[in-house]
Amino acid sequence: MDHRAKRVAVVGAGTSGLAACKHLLARGFQPVVFEAGESVGGLWTRTLASTRLQSPAVAYRYSDFPWPDSADVFPRHDQVVDYLAAYARRFGVDECVRFRSTVVSAEYVGAEPEDAADGWERWAGNGEAFGDGTGVWRLTVRQHGASEKEPETEMHEFDFLILCIGRVSGVPNIPSSFPANGGPEAFRGQVLHSMELSNMDDADAAALVKGKRVAVVGAGKTAYEIATECTEANGAGLPCTMVCRNPQMLLNRPDVWGKVSIVYLYMNRFAELMVPKPGAGAASRLLAALLAPLAWAISAATGAWYRREIPMRKYGMEPDQGFARCVSSCLISMLPDGFYDRVKEGSVVLARSKEFSFCVDGLVLDSGGEKQRVAPADVVILATGFRGDQKLRNMFVSPRVKDIIAGAPLYRECVHPRVAQMAVLGYAEGLNNIYAAEMAAKWLARLLDGAFRLPSVRRMEESCAEWGRYYARRSGGGGDGQTAWRPCIGAVNLWYNDELCRDMGCEPRRKKGFLAEWFQPYGAVDYADIQ
Ligand SMILES: Cc1cc2nc3c(=O)[nH]c(=O)nc-3n(C[C@H](O)[C@H](O)[C@H](O)COP(=O)(O)OP(=O)(O)OC[C@H]3O[C@@H](n4cnc5c(N)ncnc54)[C@H](O)[C@@H]3O)c2cc1C
Repeated sequence: MDHRAKRVAVVGAGTSGLAACKHLLARGFQPVVFEAGESVGGLWTRTLASTRLQSPAVAYRYSDFPWPDSADVFPRHDQVVDYLAAYARRFGVDECVRFRSTVVSAEYVGAEPEDAADGWERWAGNGEAFGDGTGVWRLTVRQHGASEKEPETEMHEFDFLILCIGRVSGVPNIPSSFPANGGPEAFRGQVLHSMELSNMDDADAAALVKGKRVAVVGAGKTAYEIATECTEANGAGLPCTMVCRNPQMLLNRPDVWGKVSIVYLYMNRFAELMVPKPGAGAASRLLAALLAPLAWAISAATGAWYRREIPMRKYGMEPDQGFARCVSSCLISMLPDGFYDRVKEGSVVLARSKEFSFCVDGLVLDSGGEKQRVAPADVVILATGFRGDQKLRNMFVSPRVKDIIAGAPLYRECVHPRVAQMAVLGYAEGLNNIYAAEMAAKWLARLLDGAFRLPSVRRMEESCAEWGRYYARRSGGGGDGQTAWRPCIGAVNLWYNDELCRDMGCEPRRKKGFLAEWFQPYGAVDYADIQ
């Protein structure tokens, strides 16, 4: 194949887009990367002042590009940006990126009518990345100059489109169902989403909360970080209220019993034997069933240890689900340093509430019934997550593609069985997202290179359905107004990698020796030789 003749577009220059571009370059393609921002790094270029990686640097890395020795164990957001920028320079990715270029829409233009895809036996007609070569993706790109001038709009055509636009950035999830007169308009203070705070420069963000009564709504890491930053600004004199419905598992350290890293318990082959995996055969399922008591015991012991270490029960912040379930739904992260000390000293007030609404003076919690109470506030910050599914849908012109693209898991977390010449990277979450995105980028580059063909559309759809059932069972829903499944490969990352390796014709077992293969944790470095 003449790679240079094939036009490939990557949208987004975060961790996923950089990996996609690097592996395409390695295979001889000359991709064009459109990035709305002014630099590489994606969401890491726009975080709260205190945001750090919650995965250690040794794990959160590309397979063939180590961190510099100067990086912290859990690097700060600016160190992450430096690492990603160095990767882009090292592999020539930065030369492919067109900054300040927002892809406003993508439309597939082919010789066949759009609904011909309903009758496909093979993806794009023949199971190959570029189909029969007659269809293209037409992108409308808004080019923002460095000056205040009106942006210019351009059209570009590509033979393959890779969306790396990020799942937890860009389109905020704003709660919208409130009782009559209980919406944000009832509140006399300011309401904003965590994304707006992250987009501000650090001094403006600190000034916004300084001397104010702040209420943060949310249960994820970002809510904890905002509450901690508020305590730094205001101390116990003006406590920050954190309102949360379903607490997540936030850990104070990544090892249990003072010495065993949780990756030894959840990110090796033996641990995955205990999980009923999507598409696994009867023997594998039987083994998982036989090992279920052991899986339960490990989950209970791990959870009990953290519950003893962290006063989550005392403050009503114990998750409803067990530890293993938190892992398999990717609802597990690291506490900001000294968080519960701030709670103890009264700088943060934790309020668990099934519902919330607004009133003139703040938030009404557990609305309805006698339990109603008001959390007074001048500023309400919604750390309520993002609408990754909506963001993806918004990219497409076609109502048909909008309708189906986020309706079920993607095949290999990359391609939709009935949308030709297009892939999405970075939508499945893992315990370590850069690792998952890079593996998918390797797989995709080989698919484009013609190293393997996709199976029949029917087989792909069966696989997507199996993964969908797994997600619904093991990881639960994506949140308010979102899908009933959350694409989290946290507990089956190796099983997923094995599928990709088999497709690529690479050996899935990558450790030396029986004990290492079954008990050592796997990570990006184990796949460094797959280029
Ligand atoms: C606060 C925070 C902390 C996190 N910490 C960790 C962690 O410790 N460990 C971990 O594994 N994961 C973590 N994550 C998850 C994180 O999402 C991934 O690790 C990873 O950074 C996502 O990269 P991405 O490239 O997929 O998306 P993003 O980083 O969101 O990048 C998407 C890029 O696409 C661009 N873009 C979007 N739409 C368009 C468009 N239409 N046109 C042009 N460009 C576009 C955006 O400008 C952006 O640069 C964290 C997430 C958050 C929010």
